[in-house]
Amino acid sequence: MSFAYTFATDSLVRWQIFRNFAAKNVQQTMSIRFRLLTFLLCLTVIGSTAQRRSTRTTQRKATPQASQTTQSLKAGVTKELAAERSRIISHVNYDLTFNIPASQKQVVTGTAVITFLLSELTDVVLDFQGTFSGACIINGKQRTVTYQKEHIVLPMKQLKEGLNTVALTFTSANSALNRHDDYLYTLFVPDHARSCFPCFDQPDLRALFTTKLNVPDGWKTMTSDSENPLPTYLYSFVAGRFQEKKSQRDGRLMRALFLETDPKKTAQLDHIFDEAGNALRWMETYTGLKCPFKEYGMVILPGYQFGGMEHPGAIQMNDRRLLLGENPSQEEQLRRTELIAHETAHLWFGDMVSLKWFEDVWTKEVFANFMAAKITRRQFTKVDHDLNFIKTYQARALAIDRTEGTHPIAQSLTNQNEAAMLYDNIIYDKAPVMMRMLEQMMGAKSMQAGLQKYLRNYYFKNASWDDLIETLDREAPTVGIRQMSEVWVKQKGMPTIQSVYRDGKLVVSQHDPYGRGLCWRQKFDIRIINDLGRSRTITVDMQQPTMSFDIGPAPSYIIPNYNGSGYGRFTLDDVYTRKLPQRLIVTRDDLQRYALLLTLHDNYLMGLIPASYFGELYRDMMKEKNPLIMQTCVDHMFKIAFDLTPRERQTLEQCMMDLLSENRSDECRRTIIRKMSRHATAPEVVQQIYDLWKNHNDRLFDEHDYMEMAYRLAIMRPEEWQQIIVKEREYLSNDLLRQEFDYVSRACTPNGNAQRQLFNELLKPENRKQEPWALHVIELLNADVREPQSNAYIPSSLASLEYLQQTSDIFFTSDWLQALLSGHKSEEASRQVEQFLKKNPNLRPQLRNKILEAAWPLMNIRR
Ligand SMILES: [Zn+2]
Repeated sequence: MSFAYTFATDSLVRWQIFRNFAAKNVQQTMSIRFRLLTFLLCLTVIGSTAQRRSTRTTQRKATPQASQTTQSLKAGVTKELAAERSRIISHVNYDLTFNIPASQKQVVTGTAVITFLLSELTDVVLDFQGTFSGACIINGKQRTVTYQKEHIVLPMKQLKEGLNTVALTFTSANSALNRHDDYLYTLFVPDHARSCFPCFDQPDLRALFTTKLNVPDGWKTMTSDSENPLPTYLYSFVAGRFQEKKSQRDGRLMRALFLETDPKKTAQLDHIFDEAGNALRWMETYTGLKCPFKEYGMVILPGYQFGGMEHPGAIQMNDRRLLLGENPSQEEQLRRTELIAHETAHLWFGDMVSLKWFEDVWTKEVFANFMAAKITRRQFTKVDHDLNFIKTYQARALAIDRTEGTHPIAQSLTNQNEAAMLYDNIIYDKAPVMMRMLEQMMGAKSMQAGLQKYLRNYYFKNASWDDLIETLDREAPTVGIRQMSEVWVKQKGMPTIQSVYRDGKLVVSQHDPYGRGLCWRQKFDIRIINDLGRSRTITVDMQQPTMSFDIGPAPSYIIPNYNGSGYGRFTLDDVYTRKLPQRLIVTRDDLQRYALLLTLHDNYLMGLIPASYFGELYRDMMKEKNPLIMQTCVDHMFKIAFDLTPRERQTLEQCMMDLLSENRSDECRRTIIRKMSRHATAPEVVQQIYDLWKNHNDRLFDEHDYMEMAYRLAIMRPEEWQQIIVKEREYLSNDLLRQEFDYVSRACTPNGNAQRQLFNELLKPENRKQEPWALHVIELLNADVREPQSNAYIPSSLASLEYLQQTSDIFFTSDWLQALLSGHKSEEASRQVEQFLKKNPNLRPQLRNKILEAAWPLMNIRR
């Protein structure tokens, strides 16, 4: 136990003492709580009038003494406001009561007793977007305060230096409550706690929470209340008619709330607890710190907007990612382990040490993913994990980094109400690639030692990326970590790395596509193969823009980024590029074959490799055994087919189905059928899917697979669409599936007016509560075969982006754009995007980037 650790623990103990001290104060307030409630609830009824009136009167009085902060008050939480508050406020406690009615139509009301230490006397601003009467009790006295621009202003003359207590009642806004019939769950990341209750909604004002939930009879609840202070974005509660399962792992209570009724699925909970237990043990060993949260609670939610969210004690998980079908693919099992490991790793990276300000959100995500990769490695011993790492992170990061919509890993944020725009594959997927390079450069042991120090230094505190870099740099001072961070983290894009043969030399050069002359330091291998099949590997430690190696006579093949450890676009001379696809079938090693697949695909996208490369992919698939490679291979084959004319595409679809008789593995069959279930256009292939669906007895496919087939078949056979939908519905085994199916299958209607109406409905937030379902509808409305009429959704979607972003959760806007555009390939669609961008030069840069990113395949299609 280090000094820093002891000190940090002492500081927490002090906080607990403060809470107990505050509790006395609170109890006093509590005793008048009943009176207060009756009094304040009366006011809430006439809330809006009272609010307006009180605003006017108090403003008049308060203005002369108002601090600079309150004078320049803006909606949201600005960086200045956050900095000022974290300077003067500390030791925050929220004692919260929520009254949750059974009916969604009735509002959720609550009482908050907030205590905090104030080090300097000034107006204090609380964030709140719900309804509040203006009446509150400040330090035991009834007061009326100002409410302006989403803030409650507590005037300095009613406060004191030291401990302050504020008690008030309020009505929560519904926006982050995720209310459904019979249950609700709060999801406050990044800045939605303030929509539910008055608070200091910034990550570096950590607080202790105590929650009381008044719920209908028979409802179960779970909260993230803990003995450790948490940022508001990590606070959560859920309540509803959930099922519950409890168990113990290593003496820790594991608890799950769920709605799933399929016994085959709920039987998986024991396995899920095991996986969570494994992840906890692994993290405790790696970090040298015990998990500081007593209970491991999770809530499994249908139609959940994310994969998971790490509220300690009440981790939310997406049911489809967690509860798998009867015969899950290796990929599905891997992704489930990664998800559990990701959320568990957050208990240390994110919950124990949190970000200071949301522009550093990627620092918690990078560690969650980086640790998840290590934990998963231990559990799947037969999987090639280097390959899985490249597939999971590198391939997805490249997909954004090659577009004009890319941006640096580190982004800046002036107001927290824009924080949602920071999230995408660059922070989730490029950051782990960078972190792995950092680990390779400093060594795994010294990285681990650095991270242990970091966690102890900032134990239940907040830290920025620069704080981390400083800790790691001290651990390995000769590695040049800061310089690496400057390029990889703070600058956008990736290098083009060209390998050419010149007069006995292999010349490897890096180019910065944005002309800034940057050099992305990294190590990768290049394989040289000569006529006689003799080969050698050159390891390039790229520290300068150009490096050359003596290799003698011209080789037959040059294979860049041989083991996939490099990151960028790897190109060759034309003559070597043309020969490169021949290497796919003869590359035996899975990792090397996968790395080659990515290089080939990138060169295909750049127009350097012709569509006939489909043949090499086909030959590889005939023999391919690795399910991770199969999926990528099939994706790349389909991309080539998609780019060709409708007739050529149909031929290639049939070729892909022919593969089923060449490669008879389950994984091959599952991968190809799943792809075709969503995309088939060839009448023969549609018929094959139809027959499979009609029989409904292939155990390789789960209920969602059959639902997917039904959607596609209904779209492809408009004359039969209703029968298909009715028939599929009869097969569904439970209400949750029927709800989802009824919602999504509306998109299959062949009626143009009904389609348009459905699209317009989805623009309204109340019609897209289950975001993944809504995105599925958008995807089906924009199915490839629905051009050109589906082109009409492009301009209206783009014009609504700002609104969509304001009324949805963090990934929704990007995902909407993907669902909207991925099926389009017409020049008209491409023109619509271009025109929108031209006509809206003042669009917020992050939104522009999201459009450029999602539209890249459409605008770069090889017509
Ligand atoms: Zn995460």
